[in-house]
Amino acid sequence: MEQKKELPKFAVLQLSGCSGCEVSLLNAQEWIEDFDLVYMPLVVSSHKIPEDVEVLLVTGGVRTDEDIHNLAKGASRAKKVIAVGTCALSGGVAQVSETHPARDTYMLSSHRLRLPDMLPHAYPIDRFVPVDIYLPGCPPTPQLFMTALTNSENAKIASIVCQECGRQKLQDMRPTSITGMRSGVVLPDICLVNQGYVCVGTSTRGGCGALCTRPGHPCVGCRGPANPYLNKEPEFVLDNLRRVFTRMTDIPEGEINAVLESPWLSLFLDQFTDYTQDDSLPLRTKEKMI
Ligand code: SF4
Ligand code: SF4
Repeated sequence: MEQKKELPKFAVLQLSGCSGCEVSLLNAQEWIEDFDLVYMPLVVSSHKIPEDVEVLLVTGGVRTDEDIHNLAKGASRAKKVIAVGTCALSGGVAQVSETHPARDTYMLSSHRLRLPDMLPHAYPIDRFVPVDIYLPGCPPTPQLFMTALTNSENAKIASIVCQECGRQKLQDMRPTSITGMRSGVVLPDICLVNQGYVCVGTSTRGGCGALCTRPGHPCVGCRGPANPYLNKEPEFVLDNLRRVFTRMTDIPEGEINAVLESPWLSLFLDQFTDYTQDDSLPLRTKEKMI
């Protein structure tokens, strides 16, 4: 009888996130032949992570005491931990609950008694466990998942999104105001900044294949800062973006700043803020980033 090949085991631990990362992983079907997915509550019926897991992918940020417990337990059973997605790298969408009025309502609810204790903040996972590889994105593309699982040491990632975008930056097309996404028309092949859209691809880590900008949606920076801005204050990224807009447009600086500092962009542009403000946290070196 033919002996069944022993495949490396991997597990997916979901903390406080939205399941978008899991869906993207499931779209990368190539790993099915090469890995044995032993734990992922969304699709695998198993109550615990086995002891001998090769790789643990962690999605979501650390928002509750239960997240801390599950993360520590999961990481202790795996040889390698990969932080997946903006939430695991920065706290992510769960940060929104810190400012949203829904949080007050939620905290007052009597149902809270049966729910895990909320931490004061949504934390990145490497505040609690060592991380071997970081895979930023919201969510990372299926191709990036494959790179993380099979080829993280030799990964060649475009340094910024513009390198993969293919839209041309023009010298003589200078918008004077921001184009609203709901009202604007997107011209093909021309850089979105030339068209007045606030695209932050010039400072954002590549590797996503410019999935958003190629069809005409401005980059919001979900892959986080490009290598030159790792472990630097978010102000470095913002300064670079301001320079791009001054060089390419005649849009008043105040208008640009208002968008760059808006909650929907700062969720991504500030995603490594904790790391620039707390010396005790591990440095995220470019060798560990995919
Ligand atoms: S990184 Fe994005 S897709 Fe992944 S869990 Fe967080 S919000 Fe969802
Ligand atoms: S549209 Fe955005 S990503 Fe594409 S070239 Fe322009 S700034 Fe770069």
